[in-house]
Amino acid sequence: PRSGYCAATRTFRSRRAPVPLMDDRDLDVVTFLASRPHSGVVALVDAATGRRITFPELWRSVAGAAAALASPPLSLRKGDVALILSPNSVHFPVAALAAMSLGVVVTTANPINTPAEIAKQVADARPVLAFTTRDLLPKLPRAAGGSLLRVILLESTLLPSDATDPRVVATIDEISATPPDPTLQQNRKITQDDQATLLYSSGTTGPSKGVVATHRNLISMVQIIMNRFRLERSDAAETFLCTVPMFHVYGLVAFATGLLGCGATVVVLSKFELPEMLRSINEYGVTYLPLVPPILVAMVAHPKPLPLGKLRKVLSGGAPLGKELIEGFREKYPQVEILQGYGLTESTAIGASTDSAEESRRYGTAGLLSPNTEAKIVDPDSGEALPVNRTGELWLRGPYVMKGYFKNTEATQSTVTPDGWLKTGDLCYIDEDGYLFVVDRLKELIKYKGYQVPPAELEALLLTHPEITDVAVIPFPDREVGQFPMAYVVRKKGSNLSDREVMEFVAKQVAPYKKVRKVAFVTDIPKNASGKILRKDLIKLATSKLIWE
Ligand code: AMP
Repeated sequence: PRSGYCAATRTFRSRRAPVPLMDDRDLDVVTFLASRPHSGVVALVDAATGRRITFPELWRSVAGAAAALASPPLSLRKGDVALILSPNSVHFPVAALAAMSLGVVVTTANPINTPAEIAKQVADARPVLAFTTRDLLPKLPRAAGGSLLRVILLESTLLPSDATDPRVVATIDEISATPPDPTLQQNRKITQDDQATLLYSSGTTGPSKGVVATHRNLISMVQIIMNRFRLERSDAAETFLCTVPMFHVYGLVAFATGLLGCGATVVVLSKFELPEMLRSINEYGVTYLPLVPPILVAMVAHPKPLPLGKLRKVLSGGAPLGKELIEGFREKYPQVEILQGYGLTESTAIGASTDSAEESRRYGTAGLLSPNTEAKIVDPDSGEALPVNRTGELWLRGPYVMKGYFKNTEATQSTVTPDGWLKTGDLCYIDEDGYLFVVDRLKELIKYKGYQVPPAELEALLLTHPEITDVAVIPFPDREVGQFPMAYVVRKKGSNLSDREVMEFVAKQVAPYKKVRKVAFVTDIPKNASGKILRKDLIKLATSKLIWE
C-alpha cells in the first residue's frame, strides 16, 4: 500500500527507496566523507569575513589537525572526549571532523549556557580537551576529571594575552597546518560501532542526558542526506546558509558533516540576526536555507517581502511548523519552496522529511519517513500499535537510532526497546499515503526557538527556593518563539513571593532561553497515584485561560 503499512506486523515502512548501507566494519565517518571527490569546489564560507575553504583545503586541514591532536603534548586516544564550545564558525567542522577521525568522541555545549550549566556537562562528559573561542574561555571550567582542561582556540592566531591562560595549547589554524600522518587512521582501527558523538538531550523525561551516537549512526545519516541531495541533480551546485547551531544535531549532522559529503557549499553565519542573514543570502548567492520556525515567523512578520536573491528553498525543522505560517510564507515568497524535516537528537537527525514542493503541498506534514526507516504508531494507554490515520506515540527504527544514553541504563531502557525501536515521545499519525503528521508532544520537553528546555531542570532549581514547596514547569504556546517555560508554583504558608521574584530567581541562574516567562500560583500540583505531575492537565488549564484573558 502507499501508506507503507503492514497489518501483520503493524509497522509502517518508508516509501523511499532504501539506501545501501556500508557494511565494512572498519570505517569512520570522516574517511567516508573525505573519500568523496569534490575537487576545487568551495566547501565552507565564513559569512562575516568572506574567507573560503575548498574541499581539498578542508580535508588537508582536518588531516593536519588530527595529526597534531594525536601527537604530544595532546596525544588524544580513541575513546577520549573533546568538547566544542563555540558559536558557528568555519573552524567548527574542522575541529569536529579532526577529532572524530581519531575515534575521539565529540561533545558540544550551547555557548549561551551559563558557566554552571557548562560545568555540569563537563563533569558528566569528562572531556580531555576543549575547542573554544577566546571570548568563551572564561565560561569553561579550569579542570575536568581532576586534570587541567586543555584548550585549542578556534581562532586563526594566538595573541600574547592567550599565553597567560595555562589551558591554551594552540589555535585551530596552527594545528591544521601540521603535516598529515597517513598511517594514523589505520593504526587507530576505528570501527562503525565506535562512538562518534555525545550530544545532550533531555529525551522524553528528566534532565539533559548524553546521547551516544556511533560512527554507524552518523554514516547512515550522512548516506540519507547524500542520497536525498543526489535525487535532484541541481543540488550539486546548491549553496546552503547555516543558520542553525552546529552544537545541535541539526547543525552538526547536516552542516558540519552530511552536506560536506554532497559537495555543496556551506556559508556559515556565526550568530543569527535577520539583517546579517539577508546580507549573506544576497552576497553569497544562497539557494537553500535550512532554519527553525522562529526565523520563518520573522520573515513573514516583516511588513514587505524581504529581498531573497537566488534563494529557492527553505527547510524548516526542529519544532512544529503551523499551517498559518506556511500559508503566510507562501503568499509573501511565492518563488521559494518550503520544505520540512522532523527528527531528534536520539535519531541522529532526520526521521522524516518532505523532499519536494509536491510532497510539502500536504499542509503541515513533516514528510515521508527517511529511507531505511520503519515506524510504529503506538497507543500510549494500551501499548497497541495503530494503523493508518490513527494518532499515537511515534516509534522509529533505523540504522541511525542512538546506541543509548551515556551512563544511564534506566533512561536507555525506557527509550529504546530491546529490538531497536526508539520511542520519540511525539504524538503523531501517518496518513494513507505514508506522510507523517506531528500532532503534539507527549514528552515533557519545552522547545524555545528550537532550543531544548528540560522542565525537570527548572523544577529542580525552583525547589531550591526557600519559599517554594512544590512546582511544575510546562510549555506555554507562543507564536513567535514556539513555546516558553511557564511555572505553576505552590508557595510556603504565609509567603508573599511574587511572580516577578520567581522569574528573577530563575533568570539569574540559567541561560536566557531557559527563563521562566510566566508564573501562576496554585495550592497544589496535580499528580497521578505514583506522584507523576499531570502536565497535560496543567497545559490545558494554562491554555484554556487564554480564551478568557
Ligand atoms: P531535538 O532532540 O532537540 O532535535 O528535539 C527533537 C524534538 O523536536 C522532537 O521530538 C519533536 O518534539 C520536535 N520536532 C523536531 N522537528 C519537528 C517537526 N518538524 N515538527 C514538529 N516537531 C518537531
